[in-house]
Amino acid sequence: MDCCTIVMYHYVRKIKNTKFSNIKGLELNLFHKQIKYFKKNYNFINYFDLLESIYNNKKLPINPILLTFDDGFSDNYNYIFPILVKENIKACFFPVGSSIIYNKVLDVHKIHFILSMFSDYNKLIKKIYETICIYEKDYKYEQFLQLYDKLAIPNIFDNKNVIFIKRLLQHELSYEIRNKVLKYLFNKYVNENEKNFSKYLYLNLNQIEEMIHKGMVFGHHGFEHLWLGEIDKKRQEKEIDNGFNFLTNVLKQKHLVDKWPISYPYGSFNKHTIQLCEKLNCKVGLTTKFKISELQYENRFTLNRLDTNHFLENIS
Ligand SMILES: [Zn+2]
Repeated sequence: MDCCTIVMYHYVRKIKNTKFSNIKGLELNLFHKQIKYFKKNYNFINYFDLLESIYNNKKLPINPILLTFDDGFSDNYNYIFPILVKENIKACFFPVGSSIIYNKVLDVHKIHFILSMFSDYNKLIKKIYETICIYEKDYKYEQFLQLYDKLAIPNIFDNKNVIFIKRLLQHELSYEIRNKVLKYLFNKYVNENEKNFSKYLYLNLNQIEEMIHKGMVFGHHGFEHLWLGEIDKKRQEKEIDNGFNFLTNVLKQKHLVDKWPISYPYGSFNKHTIQLCEKLNCKVGLTTKFKISELQYENRFTLNRLDTNHFLENIS
């Protein structure tokens, strides 16, 4: 059995001195350095090598590494793709169907860009409370404080306030309320037209076509980027079907119909998710559990990944 380093990326872009200089992401020049470091210390593999190893015990080169990019940002095309082509690296990309087809900005990204407009998160939390009160007249402050106690559990990347804001607006508030609150805050603080912003933020179909043509693999990342592990089986089925349709019919990756990968949005999944994916011939599931992946058949739907941030000290 081989082990593989699967690296997860989200925003890789020019960050300093831009409108969104507070966005949490990887500066492009650090990505260059990271690729150099990986080239020196690892051997790049592609998605099909990973499959061969898991399903046919094919031996991989020593220190294999696979790069994965979640959320389908246009940065992937503008900055990452030329570097990958130059270095002959075949990576996996996980865009979200609805954001590309309907030019919507996903809630998860609205939250990131709203956060990026604030240096004082206490101030943002206060604004969020006030905004909820606009739409829910008798919303109590005690209720809000209780949610803070429940959700504000920091992790290695986000402090208490940030994780509270993310969890509250990603799934804790009812869909209707969080949708309205996000719309309000996005308009007020990010101040961009959603449709235009979506076109700026995400890959378009022509860019994806070109990337597929050069050997990049596009996998499933939900159709609406929902917490799969938290929604009922029926809703999951619809989400997984729609995402599958996007990969095979819209992106026309016929060669992946019986062997596509999924990267679970937010790393959230349960046994129904795996059953539903497997039924549609999904072959690999990527989580956000930060570890090296052991490429065993039993692990095929729970493969670990490391985050790009885990390698920052290696390149500084
Ligand atoms: Zn995602």
